[in-house]
Amino acid sequence: MDLDFSEDDIQRYSRHILLGEVGGIGQAKLRAARVLVIGAGGLGSPLILYLAAAGVGTIGIVDGDVVDLSNLQRQIAHGTSGIGRLKALSAADAARAINPSVTLDIHATRIAADNAVRLIGDYDIVCDGTDNFPTRFLVADACVLARRTLVSAAVLRFEGQLSTFKPHVAGSPCYRCLYPDAPPAGLVPSCGEAGVLGAVTGVMGTLQATEVLKEILGIGESMAGRLLIWDALATRFRTIKLRPDPDCPACGPRATLVDLSRHTPAPAAVCAV
Ligand SMILES: [Zn+2]
Repeated sequence: MDLDFSEDDIQRYSRHILLGEVGGIGQAKLRAARVLVIGAGGLGSPLILYLAAAGVGTIGIVDGDVVDLSNLQRQIAHGTSGIGRLKALSAADAARAINPSVTLDIHATRIAADNAVRLIGDYDIVCDGTDNFPTRFLVADACVLARRTLVSAAVLRFEGQLSTFKPHVAGSPCYRCLYPDAPPAGLVPSCGEAGVLGAVTGVMGTLQATEVLKEILGIGESMAGRLLIWDALATRFRTIKLRPDPDCPACGPRATLVDLSRHTPAPAAVCAV
């Protein structure tokens, strides 16, 4: 592993290097890591900024959408002057302003069945920050097929959820072990329909960034096999244990998932939280 850091890097990351659990070797692991963030919205904004600040060497940003005035209440990687710009470009600029040494791969496109496994396969860890079930299931299935760790967060109104899925590790469930199928369209409202407190997306995106850094560093307790539920109004965190479903269609012993053909045609509308 390349442990050669400039004087500037040593200063920039000094508060990491001071931590026994990180140190110079951990910082080198962060620099060597490749993380894909799907959705540069309310979750993706703090996630991308903290990963860049932490010195994660390569960050891919997938978002085909443009910044809208109604995004700015929570999507803090974007500013008022960025309205109308591609979110992937706007978020990359914000990350680069914090840490110019990070490589930012801009994928200003919609993730779909025909590009998901290839996109995801280029990275070590994938983060889902999208706002609709078709995309969540597509990303989760693509991560199972590509054997990539998925750090997933979701928000609605005053509540957030977070988990890590790595079914390629024995005893660890996948997203479909938790949710076998997407709910019928219209059953669960989106943030655009039900609203979300902006700071709730900030907390959940920051928790997601923390879990990504832990996975890269191999420290602490992984969220694999656990689901965190946060009720912001009550200020109450709960953690539920998750187990692999032996009948899971994606990761079980009789899994039927061999490709992403069940995800075509692509969902009509895809947006980040
Ligand atoms: Zn599963």
